[in-house]
Amino acid sequence: MIVMKFGGTSVGGCEEISRVVSIVRQKLDRKPVVVTSAMSKMTDLLYRIADSAENRQEEEMENLLNELRRHHVEVAEHLLVNNVDIMLETTSRLNEICDELESFTKAICVLGELSERSRALIISNGELLSSTILASTMNASGIRAVLVDARRMIVTNSNHLKAEPNIAEIESRVPRMLESECQGADVIVTQGFIASSTDGEPTVLGRGGSDYSASLIAMALNAEAIEIWTDVDGVMTADPNKVKTARRLDRISFEEAAEMAHFGAKVLHPLTIEPAIKKNIPIYVLNSKNPACEGTSILNNVHISDGVKSISYKENILVINIFSTKMINASGFLGKVFDIFSDNKVSVDLISTSEANISVTIDDGQNISKVLEELSSFATIEVDRGKAQISVVGQNLINHPGMLDKIFAPLDKERIFMVSQGASLINLSFVVDKEAMDSSIEAIHNAFFGTGKGK
Ligand code: ADP
Ligand code: ASP
Ligand code: MG
Repeated sequence: MIVMKFGGTSVGGCEEISRVVSIVRQKLDRKPVVVTSAMSKMTDLLYRIADSAENRQEEEMENLLNELRRHHVEVAEHLLVNNVDIMLETTSRLNEICDELESFTKAICVLGELSERSRALIISNGELLSSTILASTMNASGIRAVLVDARRMIVTNSNHLKAEPNIAEIESRVPRMLESECQGADVIVTQGFIASSTDGEPTVLGRGGSDYSASLIAMALNAEAIEIWTDVDGVMTADPNKVKTARRLDRISFEEAAEMAHFGAKVLHPLTIEPAIKKNIPIYVLNSKNPACEGTSILNNVHISDGVKSISYKENILVINIFSTKMINASGFLGKVFDIFSDNKVSVDLISTSEANISVTIDDGQNISKVLEELSSFATIEVDRGKAQISVVGQNLINHPGMLDKIFAPLDKERIFMVSQGASLINLSFVVDKEAMDSSIEAIHNAFFGTGKGK
């Protein structure tokens, strides 16, 4: 059994969905479970629908809802034109999903109040719509596909917009449901991203969370492999949209992939690796637009060579500088500071300390007002939004003599603010001015991988 996850751009339109069907058809002997994201840009559209409902902008909301409905119905009509029965059944289901969403958002519009629970419910609709179209297109093409609602399998806590999975419950539900409901199916189709809490409330796994859904399902099924089908040839030496000379990596370790993803490589959701490590399931990152390309294999580290593999970055970070004269000889100061971050569920990325100052970086977008308020009661706080974080990742990186020099020599004209060498020896991260980020990434990439085009 394999789990194949298709991202938004891979199911972005008629041509893309047809391509997915042909990729899946070639793997039927491996009993695929297909996990799909929403069609590209549709989750963003749903966020805008939620915002306009909250702000009581009814006309704007109606326009966006119509756009959502039209887009999906048109794609379904086009793909299913040769099978009128399936087409009618599918468009009626799509309309039903959109009708329910419309009445829900209208109610929100009247109230002018949107809870995280309601937002999770609204943004779950992208995957419900795309999976309906994908399963129908497979059935119309002669592949027996059964659509299973991921919200009945992926159980989480009630942190609605970035929910944490309940592993034991998932491990028990996924095989049970798929066995009982999918007898005789060639393919099981389900949604990424969406889930429900133990109390049955709607939740989602956070932006980009479909990768995580796929690896949770693979873990629960003891799958042979997880395939992440996306819009680039694999995991690359840098974001190919940032560095034109980025090359595909043939193989990387679970740990390298986890560090890259955690430190900004959007190609994988940061938590995707965890369930795969638990069951030692290889992950293959593949390009749905170029299925002949071998992609990247993410494997147990015994198969992996040492050295720098990739440069990743985070542009939207905050540096929080905490100054206190009390820090001098004050045992417990660090503990007090980090308790505040942890009590408020704000996760810290990089840390550096001196006698009278602690600096940390965090992802922007987290609610930090309580953290700042509590820290301000005993320290002076400065928040800096003008910085970016760069991470160099590679197996046994730090054991290579001259590595630090090779990383920092190309940046001799830049100011480096924080440096943090990961305890795992496979990651070195530092902070630069935002304006210096692109040129710094490129300079380090050139130092390690040259300026020529890839393999
Ligand atoms: P999907 O919709 O398939 O989940 P994403 O947009 O989430 O796709 O992830 C793919 C994107 O990740 C690529 O288009 C690329 O711009 C970006 N990316 C960032 N870092 C890397 C990297 N090191 N290797 C490959 N892609 C990367
Ligand atoms: N559709 C969701 C998002 O855009 C999840 C995903 O694509 O992985 O964030
Ligand atoms: Mg993604």
